[in-house]
Amino acid sequence: MRATLIHGPGDIRLEEVPDPQIQVPTDAVVRVTASCVCGSDLWPYRGVRPTKRPRRIGHELIGVVEDVGSEVTTVRRGDFVVAPFALSDGTCAHCRHGVQTSCERGAAWGATDRDGYLVDGGQGEAVRVAMADGTLVAVPGHPDDAMLPSLLALSDVMGTGHHAALAAGVGPGQTVVVVGDGAVGLCAVLAARRLGAERVIAMSRHTARQAVALDLGADDVVAERGEEGVARIEELTGGVGADAVLECVGMKESMEQAIGATRPGGRVGYVGVPAGGAELPIAQLFSDNISVGGGVAPVRQYLPELLEDVLSGAIEPGKVFDVELPLSEVATAYTAMDQRTAIKTLLRP
Ligand SMILES: [Zn+2]
Repeated sequence: MRATLIHGPGDIRLEEVPDPQIQVPTDAVVRVTASCVCGSDLWPYRGVRPTKRPRRIGHELIGVVEDVGSEVTTVRRGDFVVAPFALSDGTCAHCRHGVQTSCERGAAWGATDRDGYLVDGGQGEAVRVAMADGTLVAVPGHPDDAMLPSLLALSDVMGTGHHAALAAGVGPGQTVVVVGDGAVGLCAVLAARRLGAERVIAMSRHTARQAVALDLGADDVVAERGEEGVARIEELTGGVGADAVLECVGMKESMEQAIGATRPGGRVGYVGVPAGGAELPIAQLFSDNISVGGGVAPVRQYLPELLEDVLSGAIEPGKVFDVELPLSEVATAYTAMDQRTAIKTLLRP
């Protein structure tokens, strides 16, 4: 089969690799229907994170189960499934606490698992899925084509936006600010709206992204950044600040902006992968009673609940995909994401 490998900065190649096979009885093999490029795939692509040797890449996928090991009980051949961005057994203490991203037997797409077998990267034609029962979530029936982008968004960005909203304690009646207009930030707008926020303010400078934010439920858009952005939020909230702020970038400046936009007693939920020296100003948090929560999103925990809303049509997170390409053009998909000409690129094998 064909799968994507990263060889180094700016060097993405689709190559012929061995077909995935069942290695242990808890495995499944899934034929990929669609996958995508994540903002975090850009760190090795830009050389921010080094690539020592060529390796598989991609961690968001949906597809059809092609084969299952003898101990797999929750999915069957022919099932349509959503795969979260991390693999987990579903049975250890951390999984039972709903923190599947800290699974004691956890594994990552495109890397070797604890049994020593490769878990294929998501940007390919098929994958071997370790711990299939704990990892995969079956979709009832066979979803139609129009629903695929929203199902794929459940693999990462929608669950991550939801995690930010939960961490910030978003609820009915609240004013919520979202920092970051990538696919996660846009999904965070939708998640805040879904949890009953009364007013959602999206911070974005890009016209196309502002339009998606408004489409997904934002009431206002603030284009200013940094101190100017904070001043604008203060103005829009009658000099008070927001009840909850969702930080979806991970940089020092975006965290400062998020904390600055929060009212005394309010909460920040952060899901941006920490980069660029982000740190917490404990004295400022102390004096204004601002709580900060969040981290890497246990998307697997939220998948059943969010899936139900996608299937009923209550939410359409797939709107964050604005470019679709065949897998053969995966290198172009990276370029588009890197140059921000695409919000999120969907790939079809
Ligand atoms: Zn576990």
